[in-house]
Amino acid sequence: MSASVNRVTKLRESLNELQIDALLITNPVNRKYLTGFTGTAGNVLITESRAVLFTDFRYVTQASEQAAGFETIEHDSANPLAAVREAMRSAGLSKLGFEQENVSYGAYGRYAAELGGDITLVPTAGTVERLRRIKDAGEIQLIREAVAVSDAAFTHILPFLKPGVKETDVSLELETFMRRQGASATSFATIVASGERSALPHGVASGRVLGTNEFVKMDYGALYKGYCSDMTRTVFIGQPTAKHREIWDIVLEAQLACLAGLKPGMTGKEGDALARDVIAKYGYGDNFGHGTGHSVGMEIHESPNLNKRESSVLEPGMVVTVEPGIYLPGFGGVRIEDMVVITETGCDILTKSSKEFITL
Ligand code: ZN
Ligand code: ZN
Repeated sequence: MSASVNRVTKLRESLNELQIDALLITNPVNRKYLTGFTGTAGNVLITESRAVLFTDFRYVTQASEQAAGFETIEHDSANPLAAVREAMRSAGLSKLGFEQENVSYGAYGRYAAELGGDITLVPTAGTVERLRRIKDAGEIQLIREAVAVSDAAFTHILPFLKPGVKETDVSLELETFMRRQGASATSFATIVASGERSALPHGVASGRVLGTNEFVKMDYGALYKGYCSDMTRTVFIGQPTAKHREIWDIVLEAQLACLAGLKPGMTGKEGDALARDVIAKYGYGDNFGHGTGHSVGMEIHESPNLNKRESSVLEPGMVVTVEPGIYLPGFGGVRIEDMVVITETGCDILTKSSKEFITL
């Protein structure tokens, strides 16, 4: 069975639970996940008996080639809802679910005007995203490849890190290297944060010049064949002080503890605590202000998360990051991040780059 047929079958199980006759998918990532269609415009309608991809004339040929198991129907790009209305009415369906997180106030007004009357609009949230939580074998393979691209970039960048080089030069080098390896883009804005800036958890590369006796924290990833990677390494230029070494060692201990303990059946909150408790034990709990991890897939931030509030239970096939950090304002900060896939018994670490304390 093809991946998209399988996904549609699973999605149909939600129609009953949601008490709707059909679900309209307008989120572009969800559209691609369900259909395999990589074009940038189109709506998907799933009913008990039909799986339809509506798109405009620019994409009809591509859509019919890519969207295995879907009917491809050309809609009028000036009024795409007319085709949805026709599909609903011709089948005598009235309750139409829509993706509330993807529908703006303006779009909702158009829905109500075009689909109102005998069609009842029912807001839904996270229906396709819940399917996307568990990655199938094909997805995990693509994620492994995306991770391998970012691992190769780490090996590539080490000789490039020298006093006098700008953070933006480092980010550009990482990004062009990953593009040459086949990445279509970065998976998010590359973080290169050196010296005091390394204390910024999300210090996107700036014009700062790398100095000596300071951390360089790099957090970056590739978008490769539609899947994201995400990794962080913090290296040192020059001679570390005892304090630099101390916080680096604690972050690594926390990261390794989490990797060793993550397993299916625990909540995201319990997974988070595996790392957080180590950092708190050494007195740096207040310097670790973000969650331990997040899921990754077609998007860089998916659910569930590993954080203090996450009640979702980890299941085999979920792909999450493990990225504890310690940030000391005015001094510097450390984060170490790997991606893992949850297995039946624990987790499999996808990121292969060294976690030695590297001094340059
Ligand atoms: Zn990251
Ligand atoms: Zn991350």
